[in-house]
Amino acid sequence: MLEELKQQVCQANLDLVAHGLVTLTWGNVSGLSNDRQFLVIKPSGVAYDGMSPAQMVVVSVETGEVVEGALKPSSDMVTHRLLYQKFSGIGGITHTHSPKATAFAQAHREIPCFGTTHADHFYGTIPLTRLLTAEEIDAGYEINTGHVIIERFANLDPVAMPGVLVASHAPFAWGKDAADSVKNAVALEAVAAMALDTLALAQETGPVDQFLLDKHYFRKHGQDAYYGQQ
Ligand SMILES: [Zn+2]
Repeated sequence: MLEELKQQVCQANLDLVAHGLVTLTWGNVSGLSNDRQFLVIKPSGVAYDGMSPAQMVVVSVETGEVVEGALKPSSDMVTHRLLYQKFSGIGGITHTHSPKATAFAQAHREIPCFGTTHADHFYGTIPLTRLLTAEEIDAGYEINTGHVIIERFANLDPVAMPGVLVASHAPFAWGKDAADSVKNAVALEAVAAMALDTLALAQETGPVDQFLLDKHYFRKHGQDAYYGQQ
């Protein structure tokens, strides 16, 4: 089932490696079926070298049960599943421990929009979740990781802000499909690297003006977008 989606998700996982966002096996990409009933995700702890579409695991979004696949799904599947249930506008999720974005997550610092590269992809400051409590980690680490992300997005639009930093952990990014979520994960890492250098050069740097953010974001996104080939 979902052979095309398995192919897309497998390729998206391999693309993470090609983009240099993955060390060892720390990373996973999933994609959602068009009817939003199933998610397809990388198997847990499997090496990227030689990974094939047939190894991808199909999980029911409603029950969380594996419906196809011989291998165990990535342990972060539980977080992915909750995000698909709560964020109706997304169809792909990427989780990495890419170094620069992870540095911000570990320092408990959000990433302000310091320039137009950021504004082209993310509408404003990239948010940081709160820390999980000992009880939350004990009761259900992966599901509660999803819950702190949802909580942080209470007043944010996940389509306009396709990424988050989980405090003391690492980034999650998402998009309209698996490939789009990888693209946003790549953008998040690039923006984090630029922000770190910006702060190293000028610690007092503030975010760009709202009108510049609006110009750059909305020329690429939304109904009035005009950037690129329409
Ligand atoms: Zn992780």
